[in-house]
Amino acid sequence: MAASAREGARERFAGRCAYCGVHENSVGATLTVDHHRPRARGGLDESENLVYACPRCNEHKGSYWHEIDPPHVQLLNPGRDDLSLHVREIEDGRLVGVTSDGVFFIDKLRLNRAPLVALRVRAKLIAVRAAELDDARQRVRALEQRISELRAAVESTGDAIQRRSSPRRS
Ligand SMILES: [Zn+2]
Repeated sequence: MAASAREGARERFAGRCAYCGVHENSVGATLTVDHHRPRARGGLDESENLVYACPRCNEHKGSYWHEIDPPHVQLLNPGRDDLSLHVREIEDGRLVGVTSDGVFFIDKLRLNRAPLVALRVRAKLIAVRAAELDDARQRVRALEQRISELRAAVESTGDAIQRRSSPRRS
């Protein structure tokens, strides 16, 4: 496969495995390029058929092609299908299929393998903490605003009292 095709797949999927979502920065290496329709099954090097994939997903998918291999269910193509319509993440970090295609996709690619679930749980925790941090910063900003309002009020009241109590010179 041409280096440009490989790089194209990498860019199209923003450095993430299009099957499980793991980023190459988490893997510590560039990922592989999977032929959604395997070359051995007539797949071509065209962009819609090239999926940026981590080695483990690529291995689980293997040379599966629904027209030839049982159970003859078409595997979703992340470059063409909207996975969010078929797969959903639940509270404990596991993925569940919303459609029968989604169920097959998760099962075929073993998308609930322990390290992936751990990554999802961690990402969720980071998102929650980031939201809390954002919220805390907003409250700090509101308090700072209140402090400066009160300080201005104290100063103007102090000035008024001072003006009243100081003897007028004539
Ligand atoms: Zn993967």
